[in-house]
Amino acid sequence: MKLKKGDTVLIISGKDKGRTAKILKSLVKEKKILVEGINLKKKHVKPKKEGEKGQVISVSMPLDISNTKFLCPKCQKATRIGYKIEGDKKFRICKKCKSEI
Ligand SMILES: [Zn+2]
Repeated sequence: MKLKKGDTVLIISGKDKGRTAKILKSLVKEKKILVEGINLKKKHVKPKKEGEKGQVISVSMPLDISNTKFLCPKCQKATRIGYKIEGDKKFRICKKCKSEI
């Protein structure tokens, strides 16, 4: 998994297509990511106490990595992540502008 928490992605399919947002969580096993404000689903919340009202809230659901593209924070372009290895260190780099990301 090249993407990680805090990265910005561009949504390339689905109802949020064209939007950009930050990754809140990456689910490595499922090859999915949870993106802030993207793929919202309505969820009914039952009242916790007596006398309280139930609520309908929107929660972000994980979406497939294949529906997103990494957005480079340096050149602001949708790109792929490459790696640069220097000694025993590995850096992620933008394939477009070659900046370390
Ligand atoms: Zn770049």
